[in-house]
Amino acid sequence: MTALLTVSGLTVSFGSFTALDGVDLAVEEKELRFLIGPNGAGKTTLIDVVTGRTRPTAGTVRFGGADVTVLAEHKAVRAGIGRTFQTAAVFDALTVADNVDLAASFRLAPHRLLRRRDRSAVPEALERVGMADLADRRAGELSHGRRQWLEIAMLLAQRPRLLLLDEPVAGMSAAERERTGELLGEIAQDTTVLVVEHDMEFLRRHARTVTVLHEGRVLTEGTLEEVRADERVAEVYLGRSAAERDGEQHTGVRGAADVKETADA
Ligand code: ADP
Ligand code: MG
Repeated sequence: MTALLTVSGLTVSFGSFTALDGVDLAVEEKELRFLIGPNGAGKTTLIDVVTGRTRPTAGTVRFGGADVTVLAEHKAVRAGIGRTFQTAAVFDALTVADNVDLAASFRLAPHRLLRRRDRSAVPEALERVGMADLADRRAGELSHGRRQWLEIAMLLAQRPRLLLLDEPVAGMSAAERERTGELLGEIAQDTTVLVVEHDMEFLRRHARTVTVLHEGRVLTEGTLEEVRADERVAEVYLGRSAAERDGEQHTGVRGAADVKETADA
């Protein structure tokens, strides 16, 4: 099997600080991959590079067999790479349907945009996230969870081959998290999905293959069971919860504090 996304030797430096340090990552077609790691590990930076937002200092990104290492953001979208941000980027004043329609148009080249009248992608995308009945609601009136689902619908309307979701369940209720987990499984039936998430309960329920990033490097990769059994992961990631419960002081990396905030939100 050839991977849909292949990241090789990816390095990103911000001045003298190295946010990503030689990351190798391969995601197969229709895979649901979780990317975890303490706060500051480089997860968002990795998404930023794959989507053309940040230029790497070294290394390559290949997508569907093509080199997309230095593709402009709008070209990455057109190539079929969609992403969400840690905070949902929807237009509050527009209706749910208009947000999705606008997002669908991002995928089109400008000359096609001028002639475009077909809104067929809109009901289909809303149906997939279970929000068809909210099409005419103003986005600003939606609950936090529904805003996140709207953003996913906006991406689905672009018919991406690869979806990159940055902490999609942060701030969601337990019921919203559960629905989101199911939704990711459904989406991954025909779309490749890379999810950044570090809520352990969510991972336990929905994760298949997990890649652990730590200080800009891939620490380990495997099934959730394999990753959880890895002592290095316990040390850099999970172990901090116990250490912090014991009142131990940590400086610098805020691993488990971040995990706990997410879990408690
Ligand atoms: P994560 O998403 O895993 O929490 P990030 O990828 O956001 O981590 O950040 C990784 C590290 O890179 C952090 O220490 C962050 O402060 C740093 N960083 C991210 N973006 C920039 C930037 N534009 N300039 C300088 N440092 C940055
Ligand atoms: Mg991040």
